[in-house]
Amino acid sequence: MRSFLSRVVSRMNALKPYIDLLSTYLRPQRSRMLALAALLIATIGLQLLIPQILRSFIDSAIGVTGAHLFGLSLTTLAVVFIGVALLQQLTSVTATYVSENVAWTATNRLRADLAEHCLNLDMPFHNTHTPGDMIERVDGDVSALANFFSQFVIKLGANAVLLLAVVLLMLREDVRVGGVLLAFVIVAIAGLVSLRKITVPLWRAERDAFSDYWGFVEERISGTEDIRSLGAERYTLHRFDTLYHRAFRAVMRASFGGNAAINTAFLLFAFGVAASLAAGAYLLTQGALSLGAVYLVFHYANLMQQPINEITRELEGVQQAAASIGRIRELTAIKPLVKEAPQSAPAPGANKALAVQFDDVSFSYGETLTLSGITLTVAPGQVLGLLGRTGSGKSTMARLLFRLYDVTGGAIRLDGVDIRQLKLDDLRSRVGMVTQEVQLFHATLRDNLTFFDRTIPDARIVQVIDELGLRSWFDAQTHGLDTELQAGGSGLSAGEAQLLAFARVFLRNQRVVVLDEATSRLDLASERLIERAVDRLLAGHERTLIIIAHRLSTVQRADAIMILEDGRSAEHGPRAALAANPASRFAQLLRTGAHSELLAS
Ligand code: ATP
Ligand code: MG
Repeated sequence: MRSFLSRVVSRMNALKPYIDLLSTYLRPQRSRMLALAALLIATIGLQLLIPQILRSFIDSAIGVTGAHLFGLSLTTLAVVFIGVALLQQLTSVTATYVSENVAWTATNRLRADLAEHCLNLDMPFHNTHTPGDMIERVDGDVSALANFFSQFVIKLGANAVLLLAVVLLMLREDVRVGGVLLAFVIVAIAGLVSLRKITVPLWRAERDAFSDYWGFVEERISGTEDIRSLGAERYTLHRFDTLYHRAFRAVMRASFGGNAAINTAFLLFAFGVAASLAAGAYLLTQGALSLGAVYLVFHYANLMQQPINEITRELEGVQQAAASIGRIRELTAIKPLVKEAPQSAPAPGANKALAVQFDDVSFSYGETLTLSGITLTVAPGQVLGLLGRTGSGKSTMARLLFRLYDVTGGAIRLDGVDIRQLKLDDLRSRVGMVTQEVQLFHATLRDNLTFFDRTIPDARIVQVIDELGLRSWFDAQTHGLDTELQAGGSGLSAGEAQLLAFARVFLRNQRVVVLDEATSRLDLASERLIERAVDRLLAGHERTLIIIAHRLSTVQRADAIMILEDGRSAEHGPRAALAANPASRFAQLLRTGAHSELLAS
């Protein structure tokens, strides 16, 4: 008894993910679900009624006494039959419409939730998952669930009711025929359920294979330029071939498994019809059944094909759904590592320059420490110039300040408040970044600059563009602020893209700004414009700046300098003092004209 109970409990637990998912996404559509149930019950009732009319018609025609259903004449029976048949088509079409509607509403909500979840996950997740893989999960897996939502609960229930009703009606007609059909239904369904266990892993493998495949395709397409220029086409095609074959084999296996289930159902069904016909024929010769009743047996036996087929399909749907639900749960189980504090501290003022403090900060992306023992303070309105060879950890410091990652040790503070105590929104509305790689979206110029913040008036946007010296570029855009930019900023020069990033900072008026200067050389005109933009950032000491500098001219504007070496501070102090001390590394850099040294790797 105990073990039976615990088995039941563990079964229920295994069902929990399905029930949770269904209740979350179907509950808001309760009324539509009720309408759907009513429509399906009506369809079933009409399906059961039709053979009864035909049976009465046949028996009345051959003169069996008392066979007239409700004492109707043959002609009336024929008309009623046509009417009922049409009505049944109508209810079943409406039911299909409503169930598709329910499914799309539910799965679109799920898609949106998953997409939002992915967007909230942080860098380590995005570094290890390709966009293609995510598309396959957010869309592919959810599409596989659509069937589950639209059909599963209601259709499975409706088909079970239909089967039960047929069996009961047959039992009423003749216990022997009913018994044969009942045995058949039990055997068929038990057989199909056991097939489920074989096919779930096959469907899962199929989805996984496609995920990899799309991930690969997406990555390669976005890297077309590099692939061409490096002559890696043949290798890429080879990989493509391998992945595609893997996907193909997985589809084959899954389809064979799925088809085995369907074909088993067909076979069983043929046996069932044959058995019921044989029983009917025997009973007809014995005089136990009328011809109309034998027809009824035949029709009902045929009628069972549909629910059994559909139950099979539902079960196959559940198999696919089980694979998808597993993967969706895996995805939702990944939680962002960068979390908001349960009780966030009040954020420091948004309209003043803030002090930035690194307190013995260390950080690692994985095994080795990328930063260690970094301690510095930038007073409000001051400028820190951050120098160091490539790979020394400069951009990493910027990412930490922005909380794209959390520090491994120590703390970063904004006006004395640990940034882990701040709401992420508060932090990111105060800290701005102009990075080496500017992300531009396929959206209007306006949306690219304001990030869809409609409260910023157009006049202000144009003013900022003007101040940054982009006026003539802007005037050349045919649709002004409504000009659609290309994804990835193709069609813009590197300098223009950088300036648009500056414009974002000015529009959001962030008072702590990290400027990660582009390592690549800009043309002279762009360089001058960028310098002007930096001047504007510095103007009036309204902002606290950390400049990751690759140019001597920028370094000259810093109040303090830190030189990073392998993630440690090799030198840190006021710029003027370092410059005046001939023994300092900074002075050496200045003496050697250091430009190349700053960049040296
Ligand atoms: P550059 O001047 O070339 O921009 P940088 O000083 O900005 O260099 P970082 O980008 O901070 O260098 O990188 C510091 C170190 O951390 C490098 O050794 C780099 O390989 C490593 N690193 C950077 N990003 C990651 C990541 N996502 N995962 C693992 N290691 C990383
Ligand atoms: Mg960098």
